[in-house]
Amino acid sequence: MDLYEYQARDLFAAHGVPVLGGRIATTAAEAREAAIALGDGLKVVKAQVKTGGRGKAGGVKLARTPDEVAGRAGEILGMDIKGHTVRTVLIAEGADIAEEYYVSILLDRAERRYLAMASVEGGMEIEQLAVERPEALARIAVDPLAGVDRAKAEEIVSAAGFRAEIRERVVDVLLGLWDVYHGEDATLVEVNPLVLTDDGRIIALDGKVTLDDNAAFRHPDHESLVDHAAADPLEARAKALDLNYVKLDGQVGIIGNGAGLVMSTLDVVALAGEPYGVKPANFLDIGGGASAEVMAAGLDVILADPQVKAVLVNVFGGITACDEVANGIVQALRMLGDAATKPFVVRLDGNNVEEGRRILAAAAHPLVTMVDTMDGAAAAAAELAHGS
Ligand code: GDP
Ligand code: MN
Repeated sequence: MDLYEYQARDLFAAHGVPVLGGRIATTAAEAREAAIALGDGLKVVKAQVKTGGRGKAGGVKLARTPDEVAGRAGEILGMDIKGHTVRTVLIAEGADIAEEYYVSILLDRAERRYLAMASVEGGMEIEQLAVERPEALARIAVDPLAGVDRAKAEEIVSAAGFRAEIRERVVDVLLGLWDVYHGEDATLVEVNPLVLTDDGRIIALDGKVTLDDNAAFRHPDHESLVDHAAADPLEARAKALDLNYVKLDGQVGIIGNGAGLVMSTLDVVALAGEPYGVKPANFLDIGGGASAEVMAAGLDVILADPQVKAVLVNVFGGITACDEVANGIVQALRMLGDAATKPFVVRLDGNNVEEGRRILAAAAHPLVTMVDTMDGAAAAAAELAHGS
């Protein structure tokens, strides 16, 4: 999960990384109140969107008085930045910047370790710096078991060429950022820019943090960082049911067991649907032990998508045999009752397939068509989606 800048700054503050005071606002009037609460002095009004380059897009503006802050907030709220609508602004204390730097810690999957990066040439887009002046960006490998201790932080700071007078303070910032990275189970913490102010303070002026969703169970407090309003409502519902669901924009709802099978099902449906402009509507993997409850929950989510015109259930019986799956489908349709209104194509194969097909045939549900092959099932589902 990517965090908003204000959330990243809160985590920074909690782990001892210096940031300036700030408050969020969703209206110009709230922005004015925030400015008054922060007291006198320079302010910066910053769009809270999960994308970079806000400054260049006009989403970061300086202001002095509460009126000016309200004015700038009014301009930024509602703005579109790279496809993200600004719904919240951060009103932060402004800094008088003497120098801008860059520091980050991230997961280096290819090398199976972490990577710390730092540069005294901040302010520039880091991707651009990495391409145009790679020698100005220090890249120091971090052993995941050892982490960033004082010696490692000193190595990073010296490789980047920070001036002697500020080295110790940047080392402290790196130790704080490591505390965020490790303590919060992040896969990225980035500060661009880290600044030296005119009055000699080192401050994280911007923050980007990505938390590892796989570690969410260790951090119940991270739940409060989730932006439920921005999530797709069906994806949120599926997540609450512990289903592995991704909404796509086609018309054929897809349920399968196992990520590989579901992905190949998407491919064959896309191919079969091509002549009619029909595509898969979602990815939904109900996993190995597809009980009737899980099947019903999956169908419920898929049928709630108004774009879905037909559903393809593609299950390969393994540990959970086809007869159990067939019983699951029959029970799920019974549980759904009148909520099941769209045609279904079911393709079963694998362990106990004859018994599974017999159960479905015996149930003779009016919405269900059984097809024995995957290609045939995909073609039938695509035609049904096209016809209805
Ligand atoms: P980004 O463009 O999305 O990375 O947003 P940043 O938070 O990094 O802001 C972009 C730029 O705005 C920074 O590189 C600074 O040059 C400038 N900026 C941000 N906050 C302040 C501030 O408090 N004072 C001043 N003078 N400039 C700021
Ligand atoms: Mn930035």
